[in-house]
Amino acid sequence: MADVAIDLGTANTLVQIRGQGIILNEPSVVAVDRATGRLVAAGLEARRMIGRTPEGVMAVRPMRDGVIANVDQVEMMLRHFLGRVLPRGLFRARPRVLVGVPSGITELERRAVRHAVLAAGAKEVYLITEPMAAAIGVGLPVTAARASMVVAVGGGTTEIGVIALSGLVAEKSVRVAGNEMDDNIASVLRKQYSLLVGEATAEAIKLQLGSALPLEREEVMDATGRDLVTGIPASVRVRSEEVREWIQEPLRAIAAAVHGALEVTPPELASDLVDSGMVLTGGGSLLRGLDGLLSRETGLQVHRDPDPMTCVVRGAGMVLEDWPRYREVLSA
Ligand code: ADP
Ligand code: MG
Repeated sequence: MADVAIDLGTANTLVQIRGQGIILNEPSVVAVDRATGRLVAAGLEARRMIGRTPEGVMAVRPMRDGVIANVDQVEMMLRHFLGRVLPRGLFRARPRVLVGVPSGITELERRAVRHAVLAAGAKEVYLITEPMAAAIGVGLPVTAARASMVVAVGGGTTEIGVIALSGLVAEKSVRVAGNEMDDNIASVLRKQYSLLVGEATAEAIKLQLGSALPLEREEVMDATGRDLVTGIPASVRVRSEEVREWIQEPLRAIAAAVHGALEVTPPELASDLVDSGMVLTGGGSLLRGLDGLLSRETGLQVHRDPDPMTCVVRGAGMVLEDWPRYREVLSA
């Protein structure tokens, strides 16, 4: 039987098939025909359309607002992705699918994920919380009595988990992560510079200039958009110091969430963390200086995974390889 692991992220969706490794890694975006509601494109192709679509088509992130903003679109996206990666025969064999979901997901959203995955062709659906999957993916000893801590900074959510004996003993999930930084950058450019920039440009500014702590050499770049006063294209020189200022609010929210998780960690386990520290995962963990900031705020060591965007799907994939061992980490 086919076993499939899916990281259904707010920014990116990854799929791994047991015995085959990661076979799909695409933005969680769909382009839909407004009139018929039919799928025009999904993934990278749809992402390229954001902010550029002709009138009849809309390109959206179905996971963006909250966890599942639009169940039908998530279902279309998954059906498309699974159809693309599973050979016909395998698709007909109706795989058993393990999906990584945010730990702060509501019961309604859980049902929505299950529904979308079943409707996309799965025979059985299992859920695993993202911090748990990420912890397994980075090789933390989740089944041991000693506590481990993982901080996953994604696009839409930041998830923090303290794990021992196959369970999440403390967790915190906030709907603040990379996207919010992009939104803040776009919003300041609009208000202070009267420059309207799209989502992709705001993200590009973050990727190039973003940092959580002062840089050894501060940098500048030109951001291009539409001048709201003249109505024509214009560009503004942006400095890394400013960008750091603009993203302070989400950074503070992330640091506060890490603090919050530590505050609800039982003391015996908290003392384990003094030795082991925490592991940072998720695309947002690539922001320069985030490790230093969190280490300064908590006094704990902060390790980064070298491949932070694949931790969840790798962890879920490891569960597929050894169901008996990880049975208990699955979430109801
Ligand atoms: P999700 O699990 O929500 O799908 P990911 O783990 O795929 O999210 O991470 C996506 C987020 O990571 C996006 O907000 C993206 O802008 C951010 N990101 C990716 N690379 C970098 C980088 N080098 N610096 C800062 N942020 C980054
Ligand atoms: Mg993720």
